[in-house]
Amino acid sequence: MEISKVEVDTYQIPLPEPVEAFAAGVMKAFDLVICKVTNDNNEQGVGYITVHENQGLAIASIIKNSFIPIILKKDPRLIELLWKNMWKATHYAGRGAPVSFAIAAVDVALWDLKGKCLKEPLWRLLGGHDKKVLAYAGNIDLNFSTEKLLDGATKSLEKGFRSIKMRLGKEFLIDDLKRIEVMRNHLADNIMLMADANEAWRIDQAVIAFKEIEKFNLVWLEEPIKPDDFKGYSYLRSLGKIPIAAGENLHNLAEFNQLIDVNGVDFLEPDLTTCGGITPFMKVAKLAEINNLPVCSHGVHELHVHLLASCPNASYLEFHAWRIDEFIDSPLKVLNGYTEAPDLPGHGINFDFEKVKKYFVG
Ligand SMILES: [Mg+2]
Repeated sequence: MEISKVEVDTYQIPLPEPVEAFAAGVMKAFDLVICKVTNDNNEQGVGYITVHENQGLAIASIIKNSFIPIILKKDPRLIELLWKNMWKATHYAGRGAPVSFAIAAVDVALWDLKGKCLKEPLWRLLGGHDKKVLAYAGNIDLNFSTEKLLDGATKSLEKGFRSIKMRLGKEFLIDDLKRIEVMRNHLADNIMLMADANEAWRIDQAVIAFKEIEKFNLVWLEEPIKPDDFKGYSYLRSLGKIPIAAGENLHNLAEFNQLIDVNGVDFLEPDLTTCGGITPFMKVAKLAEINNLPVCSHGVHELHVHLLASCPNASYLEFHAWRIDEFIDSPLKVLNGYTEAPDLPGHGINFDFEKVKKYFVG
């Protein structure tokens, strides 16, 4: 078997309304890069990544210029070999994002193709543990008023979620505290609450914030400080106030290894689109398992559901605000706090390319 064709297309999808996080600022759209890998039997795997607006074309050009010449005519079943060759070819300008995003799009397509050829869903192909996966709703943003915040949480509960995440990082901590208190009072005791500071604080600010927020019994506090301040994570975790989640802004295995090594995290949150695809995500998940840590996910929930469904140490699947639900044939549903990985071959996601084509940018 060999790869006979690779196609890469980029789309810019507007968000229904602007959302805000401390690190990224206000986001009005996201970019979607889709990579199709076809074999000489005309079977096709589809991979994709989502990224902040106006960054998709740069990622697509890495695939077109650097990766297509490497993988064309090669055996698509040898995913580890192709992954290694893409990583090696771009090591000088790479070893992380945006190269990791570019490798991820190809890697997902290769796994999808393998699943389709073997007629197995990814969640079983990757190990097979439990197709039922615990889910939580994000999308409770920093720029939303308190009323909108509560309304968003209510809508998520109506959709079947039993866990909600809200963003922190207002200019004054007192405003964050008021928002958490209002949200906690709005939710029944059996509804779980997480918070995400999106790198808002210096370490001294984070120490104060952890002390003040402890009483709200959060499941976790996510990215309180910059993602690569591993010593800072280690110190905050040693305080023992609130479990810490992190991982969406780590771009290679070595970074995950360092964060775990310094005891800096309670909930690992790799994102296959930011760390180089399914292949390294599964290694992070195993690393977490070896260290008795749960693995969660960030972004692209319709892909990550397979990965978490394959892991014995799976915890929460994030339902992300950058949704492609309206462009695919079978968006995930949530019931009593859980969603399910599909049993279709590969990832089982079919894009409506007619519908998405009006957002084509290159
Ligand atoms: Mg986050």
